[in-house]
Amino acid sequence: MIRLIHGFIASLLIIAVCAVVNAQLKPGRDPNQPVDQEYTNKIREYTTETFFNSPLTDYLPASATVPTPMSVLGNVAGSPGKLPYAEEVYRYMRLLEKASPRVKVYAIGTTEEGREMIAVAVASEQLLARLDENRARLAKLADPRAINLNDDEADKLVAASFPIYYITGTIHSTETGSPTALMELAYRLAVDDSAYVKSIRDNVVTLITPVVEVDGRNRMVDIYNWHLQHPSESELPLMYWGHYVAHDNNRDAIGLSLKLTRNVLNTFTGWKAQVLHDLHESVPYLYDNTIGDGPYNAWVDPILTDEWQIIGWNNVSEMTKFGMPGVFAHGNFDTWSPGYLMFIAATHNGISRLYETFGNRGADTLERTLLPTEYQRTWYRQNPPLPKAKWSQRNNNNYQQTALLTSLYYFGNNSKLFLKNFYLKSKRSVLKPRNEGPAAYVLPGDDPRPGNQAELLRTLQAQGVEIHRATAPFTVSVKPKKKSAPPAVAGGSPLGASASATASPSPSPTPASAETTGAARTFPAGSYIVRMDQPYSRIADALLDYQYWAPNDPQPEVYDDTAWTMGELANVGVFRIVDTKVLDAPMNRVSSEIRAPGSIIGLGSTYLVNHNADNALVTLRYQLKDASVEVAEEPFEVAGQKFNRGSFIIRKASADDLNRLGKELGIQIYAIADAPSVKTHEIKPARVALVHTWLDTQNEGWWRIALDQLQVPYSYISTQDVAREGNLKAKYDVILFAPVGAPPNAIVNGMPMYGNPLPWKTTSVTPNIGKIDSTDDMRPGLGWSGLMNLQKFVQQGGVFLSVDDTANFAVNYGFTPGISIARASRLRAVGDILRMKTVDATSPIAYGYADSLAMYCSNGPIFNLSNMAGGTGGRRRADQRVTGRGTPDDPDTVQGRPPVEIPEAPKAEVWEALPLTDEQRHNNAVLVIPPGERPRVVMRYADLKDLFVSGLLDGGDEIAEHAAVIDVPSGRGHVVVFSTNPMWRGQTKGSYFLVFNAILNFDNLNAGRKLE
Ligand SMILES: [Zn+2]
Repeated sequence: MIRLIHGFIASLLIIAVCAVVNAQLKPGRDPNQPVDQEYTNKIREYTTETFFNSPLTDYLPASATVPTPMSVLGNVAGSPGKLPYAEEVYRYMRLLEKASPRVKVYAIGTTEEGREMIAVAVASEQLLARLDENRARLAKLADPRAINLNDDEADKLVAASFPIYYITGTIHSTETGSPTALMELAYRLAVDDSAYVKSIRDNVVTLITPVVEVDGRNRMVDIYNWHLQHPSESELPLMYWGHYVAHDNNRDAIGLSLKLTRNVLNTFTGWKAQVLHDLHESVPYLYDNTIGDGPYNAWVDPILTDEWQIIGWNNVSEMTKFGMPGVFAHGNFDTWSPGYLMFIAATHNGISRLYETFGNRGADTLERTLLPTEYQRTWYRQNPPLPKAKWSQRNNNNYQQTALLTSLYYFGNNSKLFLKNFYLKSKRSVLKPRNEGPAAYVLPGDDPRPGNQAELLRTLQAQGVEIHRATAPFTVSVKPKKKSAPPAVAGGSPLGASASATASPSPSPTPASAETTGAARTFPAGSYIVRMDQPYSRIADALLDYQYWAPNDPQPEVYDDTAWTMGELANVGVFRIVDTKVLDAPMNRVSSEIRAPGSIIGLGSTYLVNHNADNALVTLRYQLKDASVEVAEEPFEVAGQKFNRGSFIIRKASADDLNRLGKELGIQIYAIADAPSVKTHEIKPARVALVHTWLDTQNEGWWRIALDQLQVPYSYISTQDVAREGNLKAKYDVILFAPVGAPPNAIVNGMPMYGNPLPWKTTSVTPNIGKIDSTDDMRPGLGWSGLMNLQKFVQQGGVFLSVDDTANFAVNYGFTPGISIARASRLRAVGDILRMKTVDATSPIAYGYADSLAMYCSNGPIFNLSNMAGGTGGRRRADQRVTGRGTPDDPDTVQGRPPVEIPEAPKAEVWEALPLTDEQRHNNAVLVIPPGERPRVVMRYADLKDLFVSGLLDGGDEIAEHAAVIDVPSGRGHVVVFSTNPMWRGQTKGSYFLVFNAILNFDNLNAGRKLE
């Protein structure tokens, strides 16, 4: 008994002593553990200045049993001339796993191209042995409903648990250092017996995904190896990173279009991790941009934003004490968008972190000269980087590892604080309805677009959000918007709902954002309810709410998009409900993936599908290869069902196929005996080409994702193919030219032809490139022959669709006589969401849409129209009278003769061309565009008072009312131009169908057109 008590007190003492000692542990090696001298010598050799290293990484402890990174790399981590492929990194991690009981490797999924992604857990044997029981405890902290929000219970769980710190490397493929840094970090964490590292190992599970963008990593290693073989030649630009997008892979945490995002998200939430720390390499020397600058995301818990500061400043302070220059926090990164990979943690009750270290884009050692803005001393950077220094990949690896080790040590030392915070953030998420609100979001059961609604709900499900479904109608108070913005709803839910095909749209699905008196609203059974009393309420709230970035915000630089309101971008109704009564509505939790219902209703061999702009309709058309499909040019009604303009009339299709497709795609199909009498035209599965440049493939990648996901087949061709192909029309009906991020002349010129060719081809040195597309030389652009071929394509009946900067290209190179682009002087529409008005609902491009679609806009071109080739147009000053007699309203009068009547000046709306004058007809007849070839405006930007939907809009009067989507007939074909971007980051699914309509109706775009 005495011994027992003695033992108990002794262990208490040890705990107390440990806590004190931990706080004072000296960073650096254990003098009793031998170092790996060869490895250590190499570290010192490749570090260009001693102050670019720290006592944590200026040596490598030796192990008799555990292999160092040299076993795979042939040299030390960060050595010049070596970038390992992902498979080499994995091989090393698995060698570690085999040799050390402190390492476990997990497969976490695959990439678009089938490559593996892994997560490596490193901790003491004791912690790894208790992973499962620990996870069960963390799960309760992550979902405090499991312990009835009982703080005492939480404290017990916290006391018994250890945290998970998740580190992700090289999401950006040109930022090449983190895989080797993370290999060596894993070794150190497993082997190093210094008290400092041991403390990390005993208190934290470090989880590492050494390569996030695996496809891009291997391509980057290819081009680096090519560079080693061609040292005196210009380096190859990394034209493709991931299969679809490049830098934007770090903007996908909203739409979850990429596998890497889903794999990291699932790993983070599956492990119930506390931190997600993403490594980047584009700022000297170490910028902890987690804290960043304002405006902060408005939906995260202030506990989190304090954690950013606490951990970040500890990091800066510790490394400053090591004497390492250029370590800082804050900077000008605004923390507004939740699209960054690290933000998965911020929106799921964890801690998001991000380092920018300094990379050389490869493993060469280079003299690096910085800009004054990079080396100047600022209030947040008292020890800035050097203006000029020799910089090596090893330096970069030293900084990455030192920073991570100090963070891990600090986190482990304060693990109970951060675990408790993890619980508190989760609990406050569950308590949301009765604190800040809202109580829930409701997506009505009678939405005219059940397919797009289901798609949006599936994205929320993938985010880990619980969805409920009402089992009976319920009534709650809904706060209407102050300014009534009409909904983007095409009338006509054939399910017999209130909407009608021809009349005004159904009542506004636009959620409330302003405080006014509540109005009761009844939602039908089957409505979806996203309750906010759940642990992941924050991500749902952040994605479904509206954003407001004040035009006069003190932040002068906007880092990224300012808006992402998913209901608006999906063109489905989303109601923000503050009334907590909504939580008492009769409902069931949805346990499976949400799908729209689909089947065949009725009997007969003619089938009708309402055009509601659900994206599945385009898949249906391409799946029904041999069927005859017509679309109605006017709305119609059959047997009490209303059908929108553009609705499908299908013949010669097998009922079995249709039944299967209806179910798979979530489409209601109406079988009838006799086709309705309505004007129709056929829609054929058009042959589509998507054109990319060899300048940049980033933004068109989002278009490829959209087409691939909806199974729209297309040929993927480059501007060089267009230059070579004299008869494009023989191969394609529609050519899509997504934004390229380059001016028109660069599209034509390509890259300068100085120096050596830049091949993008599969070779033995570059086995991972040249698969998506290939060329002997990336430099040549579209060229003049490409321009001619494109123009010929349109003249022969092709549809050329261009967007934002490629629309600018089309206008500049004369594809669209009658359209000009006005220069913006004050407009700031920074990745925001703006309201459209439908100008010509009879245009096939508008089929399925009503009058007020919300679209993504990034300072799109301001189109003006004219009926004269080369003419300009746009906003005109109000008529002013000339100097003369009388009041401002009076006409002048010439003395000595009777007054004459002044002819009325031509008038037009902002989005229209001015009517031709007699003078123009007589004097410039050659310039007058024939009526049939004049631009046809399909949609325009709304009036200024209705224009703003979400994000940042300043100087909106410059673009308000201007045409946004225009169809220009040209020869036998058409050029379609967009000022907005209908396919962006997997978020704008509600506007995809504008493109699909252009594709499906490629040979009938003039349908419904009335000529003056
Ligand atoms: Zn980066």
